[in-house]
Amino acid sequence: MHEKRMELYRQVEAATQIPWYYIAAVDQYERNVREARRDLPDPSGTAAIYIKPEEWSGLLNPNHSDNNPASIQFFQGTGFDGNGDGKAQLENDEDVLHAFAQQLLSFGTSHDNIRIGLWNYYHRDKAVGIIMDKAKIYKHFGRLDLDSHAFPVPLRSNHSYKNTWGDARGWGGRRIHEGTDIFAGYGVPVRATGYGIVEMKGWNKYGGWRVGIRDINNNYHYYAHLSGFSEDLKTGQVVKPGQVIGGVGSSGYGPPGTSGKFPPHLHYGMYKDNGYSEWSFDPYPHLRMWERQERIQSKK
Ligand SMILES: [Zn+2]
Repeated sequence: MHEKRMELYRQVEAATQIPWYYIAAVDQYERNVREARRDLPDPSGTAAIYIKPEEWSGLLNPNHSDNNPASIQFFQGTGFDGNGDGKAQLENDEDVLHAFAQQLLSFGTSHDNIRIGLWNYYHRDKAVGIIMDKAKIYKHFGRLDLDSHAFPVPLRSNHSYKNTWGDARGWGGRRIHEGTDIFAGYGVPVRATGYGIVEMKGWNKYGGWRVGIRDINNNYHYYAHLSGFSEDLKTGQVVKPGQVIGGVGSSGYGPPGTSGKFPPHLHYGMYKDNGYSEWSFDPYPHLRMWERQERIQSKK
């Protein structure tokens, strides 16, 4: 599947001069949004960009399943014949990717122009930010296969965690516990759990020293109460599974530098973006799975 997708992205790049990793980033963003939402059909083809039939054919086009490039153009639809078979088909992956690329192309192919083109298409800063970050990740690794994971602390470290999703917590008002606490000693390495980009790094009175990493599936991973950050870690940096980002600590619950108000642990949270909002979900099943996978992997 990844090979087929890469082939498609390369075709679009060759025809439009838009680097493949931007096309890949948009396609992946849309795939994740469609999987997270009930009001959109799940992606069925190799590509996942969703275009409404009436946008494809043109709003005033009486035939919303029109696939004639000439009449689509007449009605100012976005439909496009990308594979040169004389038809602009919404069911054809090449046609859909090329149609999207054509809209970006009208703004230009530089990094900044693509950012403007994406803003014009989505009208949402967060969508543009997530897509540009995905593009950076794809460009960095030069491939689409970025699905492997690591457990956030080394398996050999002395650690424990249980499912505490939704538990009440005492400090900072009536908030529920949005995450899993992994108890371990001070300074035990904290590692990125997936391929992603550092979206946030700094102090927060609840979370202490914390890092937020956005992965390739629109998920945001939140690491809190750290003892500190690994050297050179900065926002905008691309990370891979297992890469050390900091250490376990007990920072937080006060002004910057506050530490020791509770036993050292890593607070690990996960949040999903669906294209217009973001919500937290229970990371516990994922942590169990990554731990198991890594254990199996290490025995090979
Ligand atoms: Zn916690």
